Amino acid sequence: EADPPLRLTPLQKLTVDMCKDEKTIKELIIGRRVGFYKVRGEIGYGTFSRVKLAFHALTRDKVALKILDRMRLDAQAQRLLSREISSMESLQHPNVVRLYEVVETPSRLYLVLEYAGGGDLHNRICNEGKLSDSISKITFAQVLSAIKYMHNINIIHRDLKAENVLFTISGCVKVADFGFSTRVSNCNNALDTFCGSPPYAAPELFRDDCYLGPPVDIWAMGVLLFFMVTGTMPFRAETMGKLRRCIMECSYTVPPWVPGPCQRLIKGILKAAPSERYAVDQMLGCDWLLPVEFPWALVPPEPASPPQSPGS
Ligand code: ATP
Repeated sequence: EADPPLRLTPLQKLTVDMCKDEKTIKELIIGRRVGFYKVRGEIGYGTFSRVKLAFHALTRDKVALKILDRMRLDAQAQRLLSREISSMESLQHPNVVRLYEVVETPSRLYLVLEYAGGGDLHNRICNEGKLSDSISKITFAQVLSAIKYMHNINIIHRDLKAENVLFTISGCVKVADFGFSTRVSNCNNALDTFCGSPPYAAPELFRDDCYLGPPVDIWAMGVLLFFMVTGTMPFRAETMGKLRRCIMECSYTVPPWVPGPCQRLIKGILKAAPSERYAVDQMLGCDWLLPVEFPWALVPPEPASPPQSPGS
């Protein structure tokens, strides 16, 4: 039986005219594809999403496709998703995962994301143990660069944790997962949800009398730094109540073998009062980071450029 005639959108017609390659055209139009992307293997799962590896059918650029079933998104998940899209659309930094485009179908939403194929910081530390002092510096400097950029354009991440610090194959850091992010102007004390992961939560998130702004990310940077250089978390407890107490009392101990300048940085960040916590620029100028020719001497940036569509 002959294939039914293909019905092409204007963009597809343009592609057909440009590439004149029957096989590619068929894959583009009737293969397992999303827009111009051919879907390949599974990368992982989130609460509401699946993430798959995909290739641009013509340029072969790799992307990560975050796939969301509309049916499974409740009102809260929809709100978080629209925040994620809105934040990511305005972010363009070498250490932040780029959102290239959003493809919509009646049943699904596909976020086409820059692919970070080198795994995440959490798995890396769980599998290989703490990072060396020099790798910690390079990694921390890149996350800091991303946070400085976000805060400068009034975006707070609010879910900074090792699981959301991804690496490219060449080791460049890419901060991901902006589902809890917000604009500074939108953030207030009455949060609609507990943001982020409890072990990374700043003390003010457990109080209701405090401004919940950029220092929430700064605190999470302190937890992240502690985790990188020691391989353990600063605040651990068997119950949520005990964890909350530990965090609110700011009770943690930096192991004595952590280099002095790094200890001072951790202690400057992990302060219960947000107003006493280091600001980003104080972190950038700290003794521990200064030997790093900040930001790119050791790891060249990989500027994110969206996959090019034919003719663009
Ligand atoms: P939750 O929805 O509970 O917050 P999550 O943040 O892990 O979970 P996703 O952001 O959907 O959910 O990510 C699912 C998996 O895909 C994770 O393992 C994550 O590391 C991986 N992943 C997400 N984005 C990318 C990307 N751009 N490149 C490579 N891997 C990615």
